Amino acid sequence: MKITLHGAAGEVTGSAYHVQTNEASVLVDFGLFQGRELSSGANVVPPQLDPHKLTSVVLTHAHLDHTGRLPLLVKAGYHGPIYATPASLELAKLVLEDAGKIQEHDSERINRKRAERGEAAQPPLFTVADVAGVVALFKPLPYVNPTTVAPGVTVRMYEAGHLLGSASIEMEIAEAGKKKTVIFSGDIGPRGAPILRDAACLTRADLVFLESTYGDRDHQTLADTVKQFREIVAKAVKEKGKILVPTFALGRAQQLLYHLAEMFDDGVVPRFPVVLDSPMAIQATEIYVHHPELYDEDMKRMVKEKGLLQRLERMQHSVTGDDSKKLNEMTGPCMILAGAGMANAGRIVHHLRQGLPLAGTVVMIVGFQAPGSLGRHLVDGDKEVSIFGERVPVRATVHTLGGFSAHAGQTDLMEWFSCPAHQRPRVVLTHGEEKGRKPLAQLIQQRYGIQAVLPMLGDEIEL
Ligand SMILES: [Zn+2]
Repeated sequence: MKITLHGAAGEVTGSAYHVQTNEASVLVDFGLFQGRELSSGANVVPPQLDPHKLTSVVLTHAHLDHTGRLPLLVKAGYHGPIYATPASLELAKLVLEDAGKIQEHDSERINRKRAERGEAAQPPLFTVADVAGVVALFKPLPYVNPTTVAPGVTVRMYEAGHLLGSASIEMEIAEAGKKKTVIFSGDIGPRGAPILRDAACLTRADLVFLESTYGDRDHQTLADTVKQFREIVAKAVKEKGKILVPTFALGRAQQLLYHLAEMFDDGVVPRFPVVLDSPMAIQATEIYVHHPELYDEDMKRMVKEKGLLQRLERMQHSVTGDDSKKLNEMTGPCMILAGAGMANAGRIVHHLRQGLPLAGTVVMIVGFQAPGSLGRHLVDGDKEVSIFGERVPVRATVHTLGGFSAHAGQTDLMEWFSCPAHQRPRVVLTHGEEKGRKPLAQLIQQRYGIQAVLPMLGDEIEL
C-alpha cells in the first residue's frame, strides 16, 4: 500500500493523491496547477500514473485546483467512474466547462500571435468538448454512506464546510489481511461561516493528509468582517454610491448575497438593487438554491419562509454582455457583483474602468488578490491603475475586507485535527506553502508529539 503525491505538495494547487495496493489504483482529486503558465509542463498526467490501470477517481470538491486535470486523464484513456457528492459534481461541471471555454479563448489569441511569428499552433490544454467526456463518468456519492470504489477500498464522505458539496474523505484500504484508515481532509472551511455546515469531526485514522493553506495564522473574525461589510454598505447606500465587488463565482458570491439578505431582513438598509453580473455566479447560485439539505441551521431558518433570492427582491441577474453594458448607466445606490475575483479579467474590469475615476464609487475587495492583479493594485492604494492599456485615475473609495475566507485558519485546523489526534495517526501536511505548513507542523509536534511529514511533489508515503 502506498500513496503518491502528484500535486499540492509544498504548494496550494494541483491536488492529487494516487492510492495503490496490489488490487486497486485510486486517485483522490486531480487538480490543475494554477498561478503559472497552464502549459508549463506541470499540468500533465504524470508518467507513473497509468490511466488504463486506474480503478476510480474520488473528488473532495469542485474547485479547479482539485479537478482541473481530469480532462487530461480522460483524454489519456481513463474511462472509470469519477465519484463525488451530487452538489460537487454539479459545480465541477460548471467549473470545468468555464475553464475549457477560457482555455479555448486564450489559445486562439496565443495562436494568432504564434501564426504571425510563423510558429506552429498549440492546442489548448482542454476544451469544452473534452469536459463532456469527464462529465459522462460522474457518479454521485452521498455523504456518510460507505461505498466501495475499488477492490478493498471503501470511502465515506464527510462535510468539509469549504464549498457546497465539499467533503473530507475517510478511506479504508485493505490489502492481504491488513487494513488501514486514511483521511484526506480536502479543503476545510472556517467554523461558523454562513450557509454551510461546519466541517465534520472524523475520529478514525492511521494516516491523515491535512491541508495547511493558513497553517500559520488566523483570519480576522467573521463577526468583525460582517460588521465592517454592513458599515460600508450602509454608508454607501446613504450616499447613493455604486458599490463594485470583484468576486469569485463559487462560494464567495453566495456568501455576500446571504449577508445582504440578512441586512434587508434586519431593516439595516432600505432595499436597493443588487446585480449578479456573472453567468457562472448565477448558475452556481442556482445550484446552491437547489441543495437546501446541505445548509446549516441559520441558513435553513433563513430560507424557511422565503428563499434567499426572493429575500433579495430587487436582485437582478445580468446574463449577457449587453445586460452587463447597460449597468454602466445604472446609478447608486446599487451593488454590482462580478468576476473575476482578482479583477484581472472578466466583466468587473469594465465596471472598474468606468467607476474608478468617480468619487461616488465604492470598491469592496473581499478575497485574496495575487501580486500584479488589478485588485492587488487597488488594495495597495494606487492612485492610478492601467486598464486595457489606458491610465485610469482612482478617485473611488476602496475597502479591503480580510475575513471572508473559505479556508480554516490555524485555530480551526487544529480544532479539526483534535478529532483524529487521539488515535495518534501519522500526519502529512499538504495544500500549503512552507510558510503555512511549517508553523502548523510545529504546533502539532508541541501539542501531540507527532512529527508531521512535509512532502514534496512525487513523494511516496508507504502504509
Ligand atoms: Zn478549494
